[in-house]
Amino acid sequence: MPLTEQVKSFVELFRLRRDRPELLRAQVSGLTGQIPMMYLLLVTNSLALAYTHYDQAPFFLTVVLPAILTVLCLVRSISWMRAKAVLDDPEAIISVLKRIRIMSVVVSVLFAAWGLALYYYGDSLHRGHVAYFASITAIGCTLCLFQFPAAALLVVIVVLGSYAGFFAFSGTPVYLAISLNMGTVLAVIVYFIRNYYLSFSALLQSQLVLEEKHRQTLELSQQNEKLAHCDALTGLANRRDYFNCLNTMITEAERGLRDAGRGLKSGRFAVFLIDLDGFKPVNDVHGHMVGDEILISAGQRICTVLGEGGYVARLGGDEFGVILRDYDNEDMLEGLFSRICASLNTPFESVGGPVQLSGTVGIATFPAAARTATGLFERADFALYHAKRNNRGTAVLFAARHETIIRQESRIEQGLRQAELESEMSLVFQPLYNLETGEIYSVEALARWNSPELGFVAPDVFFPMAEKTGRVNDLTRNLFNRLLHEVASWPDHIGFSFNLSAHDLAVPEMMNWLIHRIKHSGIEPRRITFEVTETAILRDFDAGRQHIDTLRQCGARVALDDFGIGFSSLRYLHELDIDCLKIDRSFITPIVTNPRSQRIVKTVFDMCENFGIDCVVEGVETSEQCDVLRHFGARYAQGYLFARPATEFSFEPLASLPAQPVLFKV
Ligand code: C2E
Ligand code: CA
Ligand code: CA
Repeated sequence: MPLTEQVKSFVELFRLRRDRPELLRAQVSGLTGQIPMMYLLLVTNSLALAYTHYDQAPFFLTVVLPAILTVLCLVRSISWMRAKAVLDDPEAIISVLKRIRIMSVVVSVLFAAWGLALYYYGDSLHRGHVAYFASITAIGCTLCLFQFPAAALLVVIVVLGSYAGFFAFSGTPVYLAISLNMGTVLAVIVYFIRNYYLSFSALLQSQLVLEEKHRQTLELSQQNEKLAHCDALTGLANRRDYFNCLNTMITEAERGLRDAGRGLKSGRFAVFLIDLDGFKPVNDVHGHMVGDEILISAGQRICTVLGEGGYVARLGGDEFGVILRDYDNEDMLEGLFSRICASLNTPFESVGGPVQLSGTVGIATFPAAARTATGLFERADFALYHAKRNNRGTAVLFAARHETIIRQESRIEQGLRQAELESEMSLVFQPLYNLETGEIYSVEALARWNSPELGFVAPDVFFPMAEKTGRVNDLTRNLFNRLLHEVASWPDHIGFSFNLSAHDLAVPEMMNWLIHRIKHSGIEPRRITFEVTETAILRDFDAGRQHIDTLRQCGARVALDDFGIGFSSLRYLHELDIDCLKIDRSFITPIVTNPRSQRIVKTVFDMCENFGIDCVVEGVETSEQCDVLRHFGARYAQGYLFARPATEFSFEPLASLPAQPVLFKV
């Protein structure tokens, strides 16, 4: 390093680094314990020197001055011992260090001068003691001040420098040699102080970097922790947090139940599952941006209704979970869920205009419904499923009767898992007729299950279960094979319909299998109609649409089943290439007396006419219904009036068609 640089780095050692507050803080904190020690060292060494010179030097130099210096040192030492290090205020730290810097000069000058004054008394042994005192004390003090190079250097330079200089001019060879020793020690000490300071400062710097890294890692892991428990869209808790909270609540409530005798907490709470009805079509029609907006405000509305006492999480999709602690009674729950339903029934404002949805709620209470997290969740989910099936937009509280259904369903589930498809499943057939000609339009194949343990189980009970247990594809394959086998003996002009489940429609392999079977059956594909429901298509609209196209490309026909009970969006009709639409029986049953049903049915007829697709009415049971329907233009019908599902049926046209009815007003 060039000399100028050396000098610069030497001068740098005396500077207080305001830009490195952590360095200054470390210096003060190190010195706080060492300075009292330094003063004690000074006192001891100087008293020893005063003692050896007591009868050699004047009273002032051996008693008065040492006494004053001792008092000064003790006062400083005590004040250091009592003072608490000020480590949080950078200005205070700087003023402490400045004071130490000044005091190190003052104390060094005083002691050095006193030592030199004594040098003139006594023999060579006494003078040797002075030189020894100066060197050893300066080195000791420097060690105590090592962390603060400015002070350490000042001490060593003042004391060793002045003594080395003084001895250099003493003219005595021994003292000349001592002066050389002192100069060398001084140079080595300066060198070490500088090196030590540089590595100390670098160490602190890297410690600081490490601390910062640690802080960042901590912050990141806290953020991750938060994200892991938070739903990114709504800012509410997520599914994971919901189950954590549920488990905590159960532990607390179990404790509450144990304490209940002592009049403590009630030990009960309620779990709500809230599902938005009609959200999926809104998302499909208006786009995901609007869907997201609605989910956010639905979450806010639920939070507002619940207030402070409720915990709200988004469990996924359009499903929210609520945990309500310490509710008073079921009336309170009822009031609350009515308010939640009402708040979700209020139209949502969106960029695409107001959107009308509703919320269905399933509720299970601890400990009445279950005492485990999964038990509670499943029961609330079951109550929700019931509310959705029977009364959308309302709430259902899980009750004992549901437990019976659950048991029944689990028996069915079990039975279905073990069912021998070949021997237990069969098909029945129900023709659909052309009302103008009386001829068969198509024959619908309907599945029947005769379980050895459970007896006959209705298809609308076991098909959802087959979906749940993952057996539905096997079942469909089995039934379709039977149907093709059966149809082989039918006249060529008779078409037939086969129902597909949501899970059939969603699986590409199933579609390939069906097409493969049709191609190898030798049956004209046009005779086959696949019936799919809107809800099945909605599970995955794009895949559903694509699979419908695949089936039609192979030559088969596709009918939209149970039309009217789902969301019946015009978009679906517009975007789906279908051949036929089957109006659900719920519109047909009241058709004779209900003008509203009449209007709906008439509108659907007109719409089908415009789209150029066939329209079948399902569930025609009476000739009055048939009359009304024909009056409004019904062309194809299915129902007990014409034929019930059976293993056998006639291929002949209807023997008699009801007479054309009198006029009805709509
Ligand atoms: P769906 O496809 O709407 O079938 C028509 C249902 O209405 C049949 O009930 C039929 O017996 C009944 N039905 C026909 N005419 C009348 C009537 O005039 N009045 C009344 N009250 N009911 C009538 P089923 O056979 O119990 O089937 C119920 C549902 O189970 C079917 O509804 C369909 O969704 C499903 N299903 C039946 N077989 C199959 C199948 O092979 N595969 C799939 N995926 N689902 C099937
Ligand atoms: Ca059907
Ligand atoms: Ca139907």
